[in-house]
Amino acid sequence: MSKNKIWLSSPHMGGNELKYIESAFENNWIAPLGPNVEGFEEDLRKYLGHDTKQVASLSSGTAALHLSLILLGIKPNDTVICQSMTFSASANPIKYLGAKPIFIDSEMETWNMCPDALRTCIESEICADNKPKAVICVHLYGMPAKISEIKTICEEFDIPLIEDAAEALGSTYKNEMCGTFGEFGILSFNGNKIITTSGGGALICDSKASKEKAVFLATQARDKAPHYQHSEVGYNYRLSNVCAGIGRGQMEVLNSHISLRRKMNDFYQDLFKEIEGITVFKEPNSDYFSNHWLSAIIVDATKTKNNFTREDIRLAFEKENIESRPLWKPMHLQPVFKDALYFGGTVAEDLFRDGLCLPSGSNLTNDDRDRITKAIKKLFK
Ligand SMILES: *Cc1c(COP(=O)(O)O)cnc(C)c1O
Repeated sequence: MSKNKIWLSSPHMGGNELKYIESAFENNWIAPLGPNVEGFEEDLRKYLGHDTKQVASLSSGTAALHLSLILLGIKPNDTVICQSMTFSASANPIKYLGAKPIFIDSEMETWNMCPDALRTCIESEICADNKPKAVICVHLYGMPAKISEIKTICEEFDIPLIEDAAEALGSTYKNEMCGTFGEFGILSFNGNKIITTSGGGALICDSKASKEKAVFLATQARDKAPHYQHSEVGYNYRLSNVCAGIGRGQMEVLNSHISLRRKMNDFYQDLFKEIEGITVFKEPNSDYFSNHWLSAIIVDATKTKNNFTREDIRLAFEKENIESRPLWKPMHLQPVFKDALYFGGTVAEDLFRDGLCLPSGSNLTNDDRDRITKAIKKLFK
């Protein structure tokens, strides 16, 4: 294929990342600690704009989730509630601890955890004398979940809430940042996320004490002693000072990347507005502000020309060397979680059947958008 591939979401450097990396080299801070780590954590903390929240930068978003569950004291055979419609990394850490996930359906407005199904699940598990120990909700594709309702339910039953905001840095609900509502929030800086450190993540903590505990566990849980002394099992989960340098550069362009991703969403709203049977995913109302990490469409094949399905559209893009991808396959349909309980209806399943993620990067060019437009016009001419 002659044309360059158009990716769903690819790294987009701002330019100053190298400056921070060079300073790491100049000062020989080639380690999982140093000024870039501290600076990146401070940049994130300020960005989140919350009085008491603290940020620990870590080697991945998955590590952040794992640590959050450890800090909440999750033990083998405990149950942890998790949104079904998500990436497997939201749920895998439950298994790392020998705990049991219970999956919850989505609602149609935000595609995230359905508060009604959450309540049904909690009440039913409490009846069975098996009160869940934590709830993991996700802000999928950057869209804030119905976080205020979810938080209220968690508070009513006194169950800690973890927000998986891996895809939602900069998204807000009623002007408050995703990741700052729960006991813990997690962020990811993997290569395809809205900002990247090549690989990395962060844990948003409620207090200085909880951040200190997270950092302690993430650096092999060394007790205070001149020799190596350990009273707890530790992990090697800190972010490298070199990678944190990339993060510092990326923080300088985060807001501009968000507005570029939001423009991609506008572009798709415009492209599909006259095409029957296709709707572009957007915020339900002005309480929600999505970073639109990925833009996605729902294809109603009973209404489209020639009854085109989301797979027909995906293949048409593929022919033009344009990447697109079905929405996340729900966890309750994954072989690895086949034994887990599930609460809800078929919203997540239907979204998986009909939904397609489209190229959404902040680095897409007018040429790229022209190719996307042409591919769609060709199919629907
Ligand atoms: C990317 C992602 C993660 C995991 O983050 P890593 O940094 O890749 O470990 C977790 N949850 C969701 C929803 C994600 O998209």
